[in-house]
Amino acid sequence: MSRVYNFSAGPSMLPEKVLKTAAEEMLDYKGSGQSVMEMSHRSKTYQQIFDETEALLREVMNIPDNYKVLFLQGGASTQFAMIPLNLMNKNNKADFVVTGQWAKKAYKEAARYGTANVVASSEDKTFSYIPKLDKATFTPDADFFHICVNNTIYGTKWNTLPETGDVPLIGDISSCILSEPIDVTKFGMLYAGAQKNMAPAGVTIVIIREDLIGNAMDITPTMLNYSTHSENGSMFNTPPCYCIYIAKLVLEWIKNDVGGLEKMKELNEKKARLLYDFLDSSEMFRGTVVAEDRSLMNVPFVTGNDELDAKFVKEATAAGFVNLKGHRSVGGMRASIYNAMPIEGVEKLVDFMKAFEAANK
Ligand SMILES: *Cc1c(COP(=O)(O)O)cnc(C)c1O
Repeated sequence: MSRVYNFSAGPSMLPEKVLKTAAEEMLDYKGSGQSVMEMSHRSKTYQQIFDETEALLREVMNIPDNYKVLFLQGGASTQFAMIPLNLMNKNNKADFVVTGQWAKKAYKEAARYGTANVVASSEDKTFSYIPKLDKATFTPDADFFHICVNNTIYGTKWNTLPETGDVPLIGDISSCILSEPIDVTKFGMLYAGAQKNMAPAGVTIVIIREDLIGNAMDITPTMLNYSTHSENGSMFNTPPCYCIYIAKLVLEWIKNDVGGLEKMKELNEKKARLLYDFLDSSEMFRGTVVAEDRSLMNVPFVTGNDELDAKFVKEATAAGFVNLKGHRSVGGMRASIYNAMPIEGVEKLVDFMKAFEAANK
């Protein structure tokens, strides 16, 4: 068996240990005689898996007791509608910073339900930076203020959070959840589709302050109401059982093998530094993001020559470095180096890039 180094933006690599445990437990989960895929979600065995997953997430992310953790479906994209339906019901206004396509989608969806205000945007330079904010442009009585914390497509990250006072800050952390510690108390709500850094596609994590639940618009479908899921322990209907089980294995790996989110951050910084240092020194490749806003997870880069980019992607793929083609809106390449990408993967990629540069001068 040979495994490639997979730089996909998502779904993406999972820790090998997690995949091995899942394989070992595939036919008979801990003597139950069943796969987790086959279990009733109402069974004692499954409820234990579910409860442990939530407890681990709370422990690893240091989530305070006054926040609910919900395990939902529909991806982060469904949150773009759930957020306004549930939270835009006091003054029917919300603020958005448009730092990429996901942030823009969140804004556009909210605009269908109320007054959505764009505080700032970095679209003028292909979202290659995080805009500086002017508090005077904030809506003082907004129901929430939305940002996308890590911009998967463009490779930018908010390193300093906006100060929104009493207006709840909402963060899309789909592509940076569990990559480093995050102060949950700075947010009214955090959410993430799991398929980038946490589990297979199918489960969406919502971490929401309790007082923000229970004020949904009347038109809100039952399944899109946070109350429905909060009141039923995320089991109003069948949850994405197997994805949640894999999330548990990933959380165990972070807690026991990596040593928690501080350690995870150190590892991620080390990997990102390797790649950015090379990009800064290379005469052929360059990163597309301003230095102070660079993401630890997604690293877009270009040669400046489309043919050379295509040649690089083709040769890299043949050498076992896959999914390096950049998003169509940026072009070039993008290396997503999530938690599960081992440091050797980045070291070997940099070696490959050096050799490619030397051979194509
Ligand atoms: C991938 C991604 C999304 C969309 O996630 P889905 O689960 O496919 O709906 C939203 N926001 C960010 C930041 C993402 O990276």
